[in-house]
Amino acid sequence: MEHGFPLPPGAVIGILGGGQLGRMLALAAARLGFDVAILTPETDAPASRVARQTLVGAYDDPDALARLADLSDVITYEFENVPAAAVERLKALGAPVAPSGLALAVAQDRVAEKTFLNEAGVRTVAFATVDSEDEALEAARLIGVPALMKTRREGYDGKGQAWVEHAADAGAVFAGLGGVPCILEAPADFTRELSIIAARGRDGALAVYPLGENHHEGGVLRRTVAPAPAAAALVDQAERIAAQILGRLDYVGVIGIELFELADGRLLANEIAPRVHNTGHWTQDGCEVCQFEQHIRAVAGWPLGPTAAHARVEMVNLLGAEAEAWLKLAGEAETRLHLYGKREALPGRKMGHVNRLSPL
Ligand code: AMP
Repeated sequence: MEHGFPLPPGAVIGILGGGQLGRMLALAAARLGFDVAILTPETDAPASRVARQTLVGAYDDPDALARLADLSDVITYEFENVPAAAVERLKALGAPVAPSGLALAVAQDRVAEKTFLNEAGVRTVAFATVDSEDEALEAARLIGVPALMKTRREGYDGKGQAWVEHAADAGAVFAGLGGVPCILEAPADFTRELSIIAARGRDGALAVYPLGENHHEGGVLRRTVAPAPAAAALVDQAERIAAQILGRLDYVGVIGIELFELADGRLLANEIAPRVHNTGHWTQDGCEVCQFEQHIRAVAGWPLGPTAAHARVEMVNLLGAEAEAWLKLAGEAETRLHLYGKREALPGRKMGHVNRLSPL
């Protein structure tokens, strides 16, 4: 650590996590003249292969954290399950971390997240906390059925969730999820799933991208269409939600906010991801400044860049063996190919994505 904000080119950005999001952050950082240091438990991680330096170690390894703090002028993260204690330790070592530990804590626990959103004036589905089979039965009576039981922590891509169809089964569903702390959610009767990617700078400036319309398969994001067709009132509503969340978290960086659009036009917030987001990959080829560069600008204390779209984009994730079609995809004039350099194409694994462009 030797530089203050705004960080000059040549400063070092530390990233907790070595996956594809870290890789695309590192590429964006390099383009602005920064060096990147990665901390990841994996050897040969996707981000490591494009970064100046990698520390291989656990996220809670005190020596690895101390080395990262020593190397970096600012530290950020590319996934939200970094232990909160790791961020506390980095801060105690005097390293600036962005986004803050508060954003991480809120995003790590679905009950804290929905409570935070409601307190920030952002609507969500009704929910109840479930810590035992008895509470599961009580929650099902309170919320009604069907209802969706989710583990409070460490759920992703639809994992750690199960529907409660009959109130009497709620205890068994809770037990089936491992008996770990859960949340029971009322069903969102949505017509569309949307997301808004937004950023807040160190000076409090906001930048918001056009809405993305998201389509999932088996709990995993399949594709995003953006800018999503949306009336001005809907866009206003989404931008207000983003501003409320970012302001209240005193946030620095890019955030992804997943939304449900209801038939009556209201938006409910489902989840916040305190990082760059898969539903924002379209910005790489559809917007003036993409979400990855925007995040680097924000954490480095630079001015935020323009977010306007200059093309319509269909972003499609390449899962497992689908990435083997790289040569065909590379030959399509309207297609921009992004591959993550993962060595093994396990079924369902995110290996890359394409952005298919058409005129606005
Ligand atoms: P999540 O892990 O919360 O992002 O949920 C994964 C997917 O499950 C979402 O993208 C929705 O398609 C669906 N889902 C989540 N919560 C609800 C809910 N309360 N009601 C209906 N569908 C939901």
